Amino acid sequence: MHAEIIAVGSELLLGQIVNTNARFLSRTLADMGINVYYHTVVGDNASRLKAAIEVAEGRADMIIFTGGLGPTKDDLTKETIATHLGRPLITDEQAMHSIEAYYSRVGRTMSANNRKQALVIEGSEVMPNDHGMAPGMIVSKQNQLYLLFPGPPKEMEPMFLTYARPSIMNKLQVKEKIISRVLRFFGIGESQLETEIEDLLDAQSNPTIAPLAGDGEVTLRITAKHQSETAALELISDTEKLILSRVGEYFYGYDETSLMSELSEIVKEKKLTIAAAESLTGGMFQKELTSIPGAGSLLMGGVVCYNPEVKKNVLKVKPETIAKYGVVSAECASELAENVATLMRSDIGISFTGVAGPEELEDKPAGTVFIGIKIKNQPTIVEELKLGGNRTIIRIRTVQHGCYRLLKEILNLEE
Ligand code: ATP
Ligand code: MG
Repeated sequence: MHAEIIAVGSELLLGQIVNTNARFLSRTLADMGINVYYHTVVGDNASRLKAAIEVAEGRADMIIFTGGLGPTKDDLTKETIATHLGRPLITDEQAMHSIEAYYSRVGRTMSANNRKQALVIEGSEVMPNDHGMAPGMIVSKQNQLYLLFPGPPKEMEPMFLTYARPSIMNKLQVKEKIISRVLRFFGIGESQLETEIEDLLDAQSNPTIAPLAGDGEVTLRITAKHQSETAALELISDTEKLILSRVGEYFYGYDETSLMSELSEIVKEKKLTIAAAESLTGGMFQKELTSIPGAGSLLMGGVVCYNPEVKKNVLKVKPETIAKYGVVSAECASELAENVATLMRSDIGISFTGVAGPEELEDKPAGTVFIGIKIKNQPTIVEELKLGGNRTIIRIRTVQHGCYRLLKEILNLEE
């Protein structure tokens, strides 16, 4: 089964909105084991939409439309498809009923064009709109499937998951279970990761392995198909073991997690408390940590020590240290981490000092960063980074590296 997504809307072509519908549909279809070969975007224009449909019919068995199901004149998706398929539009009683119910509930009078929203293509499987008014449709003709969805993602996404996905799976008579697991890596680039597992990527069939890079990290999605769920899970675990035997040192978590959530989990699990001394990150580490529910019990507090005087006066970094090595130094990071833990009476002290840029500081280029980590009575660790990117990226990556390194250090602690 090959699918093509046709997003209809002049706003997309004008760059006023981003085609997130195509992203959602592509991801969801990939998880369902359906290949998407083309994304098409077309404006609110009947003849160009018709031309796009004809092209898609030549290369896809399933054509998914989003947008243009609304009541206004520029909404012409279903009219165009109905004409193209030679099928009339008829009123769907259930949709009409829910539109009428909506208007009576909000106490407004229904206009004639709202009736238009209850029109559906004859012979289609109607998908109710649980979050709006225009219903969706699934039309089969010969061996081709046409699926029509409203444009707003908050209407389209639940409609797809609730009504379209089961119906498609049923039509495909998919008896196989499709299960996927995402492995998340930090500290390794996409190309290096791919090189390490190139032979596995080349040989993949079931399970498939799909790499994705973004926001400083790389993920691998492993997807397996099997009639038995247990067998599918086993296929995934075998592939996972192989992958982790090569690049396990960069692995930090599964599925929808983040470095900070993993860190807060482990800190909680080990019953530790944490404090932070933040110079170039200006509180970002603590902001992110406190955005995780339950972080209150782990974070004692911290100091934004942007100015060297605060490093000396509040965090008691020795003036000699700063005079000799500067504030952007391993020595300063180390004292900051130790002293913030003492000051806040926490088990862990973490510090961030460095050059966010764009200007240099103490003759060190932007991106020079030192992260200090003190865990209980363990020797203090300092990680030196040379980061690329602009000021924002440098600050974000600094926090990510801090989380990652601290996470690994806690995991390595002797029980
Ligand atoms: P409505 O009844 O709201 O008019 P519709 O089905 O007619 O729905 P459109 O008029 O094409 O859909 O788009 C309505 C809104 O939905 C857009 O303004 C935009 O916010 C969102 N939208 C449409 N298409 C997409 C898309 N491909 N990706 C993300 N958002 C979209
Ligand atoms: Mg519209």
